[in-house]
Amino acid sequence: MARIVMKFGGTSVADLERIRRVADLVASEAGDGNEVAVVVSAMSGETNRLVALVDALDSDKIAEQTNSLGGAIDDEYDAIVASGEQVTSGLLAIALRRRGVKARSWLGWQIPLRTDSAHSKARIESIDDDQLDPSMKAGNVAVVAGFQGMAKSGRISTLGRGGSDTSAVALAVALKADRCDIYTDVDGIYTTDPRIVPEARRLNRIAFEEMLELASLGAKVLQVRSVELAMNNNLPIRVLTSFVENGAANPGTLVCHEDENMEERVVSGVAYSRDEAQITILRLQDKPGMVAKVCKVMSDANIIVDMIVQSISRSDNAANLTFTVGKRDLDKAQAALEAAKTEIGFEGIKSDPNVTKVSIVGIGMRSHTGVAQTMFEALAERNINVEVIATSEIKISVLINAEYTELAVRALHSAFNLAVA
Ligand code: ASP
Ligand code: MG
Repeated sequence: MARIVMKFGGTSVADLERIRRVADLVASEAGDGNEVAVVVSAMSGETNRLVALVDALDSDKIAEQTNSLGGAIDDEYDAIVASGEQVTSGLLAIALRRRGVKARSWLGWQIPLRTDSAHSKARIESIDDDQLDPSMKAGNVAVVAGFQGMAKSGRISTLGRGGSDTSAVALAVALKADRCDIYTDVDGIYTTDPRIVPEARRLNRIAFEEMLELASLGAKVLQVRSVELAMNNNLPIRVLTSFVENGAANPGTLVCHEDENMEERVVSGVAYSRDEAQITILRLQDKPGMVAKVCKVMSDANIIVDMIVQSISRSDNAANLTFTVGKRDLDKAQAALEAAKTEIGFEGIKSDPNVTKVSIVGIGMRSHTGVAQTMFEALAERNINVEVIATSEIKISVLINAEYTELAVRALHSAFNLAVA
C-alpha cells in the first residue's frame, strides 16, 4: 500500500466526460489499496473566464474616475477565481462515489492550507493533516481544490496562475506521500515544444535544476514554484498524461535529482518565451552607479528586470543599456523611466515588444565545453541576430527578433541532436 497524490490539470477535467475518465484513474489507484489524495484544477478556460470578469468590472473605476474607494481588489479577486476549483473538486467527489469509492471534497480553508497574505500570488506556509490524515486512513479519497488556500485573515487566497501544481507538491510533502503524479494533456516533458519541432522527444528523466530553468524560461508544463518545492524536499514528480487508453503504456517523465546518465547529455531542452520586451536606454552616462539607478527605478515600480547588456562608446563617455522586462510591464517601465529621465540622465528610450527569448538548458553544460560556440554558430548560419545574451551554469539564453522564433528553436534542437536519445 502506498500513499499517492494525483493532480489533474484543467484539460483533464475540462468536461464531465473527462471527469469520469479521471474518476476511473483515481478509482483504480484506490482500488489497489492505496491511500489517495487528488488535487484538481478548474475546468480549462474557467479561470480565464473568471479573471476576465474581474478585469472588466475593475476597469469601470478608471472609466468613471471614481477612485475614492479604489485600490487593491486582490482579496476579492481570490474569492472569485478560486471558485473554479471548488466546482471540479465536488464533481470529482460525486463521480468517485458513483463508482463506489468513498470520497469527499476539501477546500483550502477546510484543510486548512495556510498561506501568507499576498493575495493572488500567495505562498503556502503550512498544511494541516489533522483532519486529512485520519480521513484518508479511513479509506476516503481526499479530493482537494488546487490553487487555493487560506490567508492569515481567514480569507481565501490563491497561489498564482498554474498554482495547483504547487498545491499538489506541497500536499505530497505534507502527507509524506510515496508518489506525486501530475496528470496533464502532454505525456511528459519534451526536448522542446512538439508544435514547433515534430521530432521533439519525450525525456524519461530530467533533473530538478533543469526543470526549474525550463519552467522559468517559458516551458509551461509545471508552475516554477512547484518544481522549487519538489527540489527542496527531494520529492520526485512524475509528469504524465490523463489522455491515454486503458492499458496503454504511460511512463511520462520523472523529475528528480540528477544522475550520471543525465550529465552525459550536454543539452536537455530548448525553451522559448514570447513574454518578454526589450528596452534600450540611449546614451546613459558611463560612470559608476548608473545601472544601479536604472534598476532602482524598475524595482520601485515593482518590475522585474531580466536580461541586461551594456555597450559603451569609446569616443565620448556614454553607454547604451539594453534590458528586458515582462511584456505586460513594458508601458509601466517606460513611464517610470521617462519620469526619472533628468534624475538618471540619458538621451532617450527605445523599446521593442517584438522579441523572443530562446534558451538551451542542460546540467551537462557544467562539464562540457563548446556549447556556446555550437549555439551561436547554429544561429549565425540562419542569419539570426542576437540582441542580448544571458547565461547561468546550466543555461544560455538569447533574445532575438520574434519573427525567427521557430527557426531558432528548430536550429538549436538539431544542432544539439536532441531528437536522438
Ligand atoms: N486554475 C488555475 C489556473 O488556471 C490554477 C491551475 O490550473 O493550476 O491558473
Ligand atoms: Mg498547469
